[in-house]
Amino acid sequence: MDPQSAIAQVKRAGLFRTQGLIGGKWMDAYDGKTFEVYNPATGEVLANVACMGKKEANDAIASAHAAFTSWSKLTTAERSKLMRKWYDLLIAHQTELGQLITLEQGKPVAEGYNEVLIGASCLEFFLEEVKHCYGDIIPQTQADRRMTWVLMSMIMWPGSVLVLYRLLPPLSGQLNLNDCSYLRTSMGVVGAITPWNLPLAMALRKVSPAMACGCTVVIKPSELTPLSALAVAELALQAGIPPGVFNMVMGFAPEIGDAFLASPKVRAITFTGSTAVGKMLLAGAAQTVKKTSMELGGNAPSMIFDDADLEVTVKGLNKQKTLDFVILFDVISVLSVSAHHDHCGIHDKFAAALTKAVQTLRVGHGFDEGVTQGPLINQAALHKIEALVEDAVSQGAKVLVGGKRHSLGLTFYEPTVLVDVTSDMLISSTEIFGPVLALQRFKTEEEAIHLANDSNAGLAGYIYTENLRRCWRVAEAIEFGIVGVNDGLIPAASAPFGGFKQSGLGREGSKYGLDDFLESIRLHIPSYKFQLQFIVGSHLPISFAVLCGSAVHMHIYDKIGMWGVLISVCLAQFVWFLNSVVLLAEHFSVQCSDNWALLEENGLKLMMARLFRTCRRSVPSIGVVTIMSNSVHNPATGEVIADVPCMGQPETNDAISSAYEMFNFQDTFEAPWLVGMCTEDFEKNEDAWSKVTAIERSQCLWKWHDLLIAHKEELGQLITLEQGKPLNEAIIEVIIAAGYLEFFAEEAKHVYSDIIPSTVADCQLFVIKQPVGVVGAITPWNFPLAMLTSKVGPALACGCTVVLEPSELTPLIAFAAAGLALEAGIPSGALNVVTGNAPDIEHALLASPKVRKITFTGLSAVEKKIMPGAGETLRKVSLEPGGNAPCIVFDDTDLGVAVKSILWDSAWVWPFPLKEQ
Ligand code: ADP
Repeated sequence: MDPQSAIAQVKRAGLFRTQGLIGGKWMDAYDGKTFEVYNPATGEVLANVACMGKKEANDAIASAHAAFTSWSKLTTAERSKLMRKWYDLLIAHQTELGQLITLEQGKPVAEGYNEVLIGASCLEFFLEEVKHCYGDIIPQTQADRRMTWVLMSMIMWPGSVLVLYRLLPPLSGQLNLNDCSYLRTSMGVVGAITPWNLPLAMALRKVSPAMACGCTVVIKPSELTPLSALAVAELALQAGIPPGVFNMVMGFAPEIGDAFLASPKVRAITFTGSTAVGKMLLAGAAQTVKKTSMELGGNAPSMIFDDADLEVTVKGLNKQKTLDFVILFDVISVLSVSAHHDHCGIHDKFAAALTKAVQTLRVGHGFDEGVTQGPLINQAALHKIEALVEDAVSQGAKVLVGGKRHSLGLTFYEPTVLVDVTSDMLISSTEIFGPVLALQRFKTEEEAIHLANDSNAGLAGYIYTENLRRCWRVAEAIEFGIVGVNDGLIPAASAPFGGFKQSGLGREGSKYGLDDFLESIRLHIPSYKFQLQFIVGSHLPISFAVLCGSAVHMHIYDKIGMWGVLISVCLAQFVWFLNSVVLLAEHFSVQCSDNWALLEENGLKLMMARLFRTCRRSVPSIGVVTIMSNSVHNPATGEVIADVPCMGQPETNDAISSAYEMFNFQDTFEAPWLVGMCTEDFEKNEDAWSKVTAIERSQCLWKWHDLLIAHKEELGQLITLEQGKPLNEAIIEVIIAAGYLEFFAEEAKHVYSDIIPSTVADCQLFVIKQPVGVVGAITPWNFPLAMLTSKVGPALACGCTVVLEPSELTPLIAFAAAGLALEAGIPSGALNVVTGNAPDIEHALLASPKVRKITFTGLSAVEKKIMPGAGETLRKVSLEPGGNAPCIVFDDTDLGVAVKSILWDSAWVWPFPLKEQ
């Protein structure tokens, strides 16, 4: 087939679209501008496409926003039905769509057809998966809580108005839920930006989960390949997807990107493309705190061990090429092993087999029979490949085959194999995205792991070995989101796709792929079965209310039917007042005592001194007395409680190193490898926290929990001292904080991996969950202990190590808690605490590539600095910047409950009685 007949066929099917899609209408750019789309195999112009910018992007966002309410209100079954129709149309038009991909992108048409199936499978998977995306009902944590709430609402009612209850008939258990439900709901408008390598499948991979979840989308395809995405949009309209739900704009990429970033209506950005653009989008997303999912690239090393089956290996590499990306060996730097005592090992045999296989590949136009490799996408890609090969050769690499432009001209490049590649060559650290295989030698398994991990990228890595133990060992040691064992990547919408480190954030595909497009609501519903209305003044007299009110109980409500009455306002107010007085009195007595002596008696000061030793190398700041110090004040009296070290970047860097070593001890063997020596005595840290079993980690957390409970009085006093809250509340905070440790101690043993049904017969797909590494945890002053354990608990439970920066207003409780952590057996270095100069500490946390996740609770202003800072190195972040919490009080509200819970929420009054542990 020739390109002209392919275009004619696509046009006959009505799939050759050149305008943008906004609110269900095909639109030109408002100023009439267009840009040209080329066939990279011939250099011919295929189409002039609307060149849109900020205005069109904003209108597309507005139409997606308008469509959101109705689309998200559809049931999952209704949305699925429409998406199923879309899927059927894609499959029905597989031929034209596959041809269109080849026309604008250049890949062999067989791969184009395959891409249509891959894209459609995303739609199919998510339209089914969304029906299985359940919320949770979480078992209540306090058995008496519901009753407590009901009773309290009666006693504590502050009434200056006459209130009349209207009781409802029993609600047949509708409200009879546990304390806490976890609901999931659609996010809103999603901005999606896709690249040229899989122009149809990438678009569908992003919009399928978003739309299945009830989000509406504005998608911006690559300007190099917009036509296949526009054809997908046409089929969406034909399938009956309502106007505005799916919008598409293309043209000035930075303008459109900026419009996505600036609009608060866009709640999530999903992007696949270069790391540079990904980082820019992450920084921009911080301004409106959008969710982001980033799928960025990076070379994918294949580690071929000397026990590999060569035939399987060459086949696997070929599969990596055809299914992974577009153009031959997009990927790949190959590391091949030489046996330890034999300097040739498998390397030379493998290089010869690979060269032979590469020589059989046929380069040509995608529509020509038997072609296995098309052109590069444009001149820029060609120049990049040439520069990489030139650099490698100039530094000693040898070309076994290829190494130059192809005789077909334009952007065709010969399939190339290079040997004697070393880590300092550009080709080892730059994403190749072209038909070049670069072979690097290694001698030991450890060196191979080091070479593979010595990169900021971590998307995919492949292992070729017949040794089962090695396969598990290496798969867990290399830092890649996708690991293939004796096989290339198999496309499966059911399996998560995404990278470690700077290769991305989040996972596309699989049940996890829905998370990026769902918000979670944690919903508390006490289980009483009545509602109330109040009518001011005109109904029953107060006396009647006083008499009846105190006798009312929820069971009685049911019995007495529709009407009942409640409570004496005066009595309630009196009790409420009394309660406050008691709390204040306790509070005051703590403030006035000689607290430091008290703490010393309880050994807390000792813990504080010991704590500094957890950061092993920060010698200058060890100890309580330092030259530079921060004073911690009692907010109730203004007194100085203690002077604590004022730490900054050097101490934080030491704490990070200490946490990094304790995570997996990699620092110790970096040096010999860097100078090219292979050490026999590969030193593994058997005590590394990430290597300790979940059971042992759980035991330590339990012990830490027990110690917090044992010291709850003293810890409570310390909280009251430095934070100011009433002692009663402070002790409850200790119990809550210990509760997090209890929960995560148990949860540590329940972090299961998945086995996913494979899409091909002879393969198994596993999802293995690994600790991310060093976590930087930044906590505020309001719940200085509970926030600490809520962040440190899950990190330690998973095998991560932590550098904690408590608020400099309330560091003492963090020191005390960390001292108890040591006592509980959590090893020195697994939890490090640095406090003092917050901007410096945060800067060090953000600057270090060793810190793989930042978890922050605090001010939104700081959060807006942390998010782009973390984006710079593509760190995972979990941010909880807070904000006012509106309480909507309806006229049928139980006022007592409302007032009480609002006071609690504002941290004025703690409604729960102190429960003995
Ligand atoms: P690649 O090297 O894979 O082409 P890019 O990151 O350059 O990666 O492109 C991927 C997508 O990002 C394309 O759709 C491109 O138009 C888009 N893009 C490029 N620059 C920007 C930008 N400044 N803002 C938003 N999108 C951009």
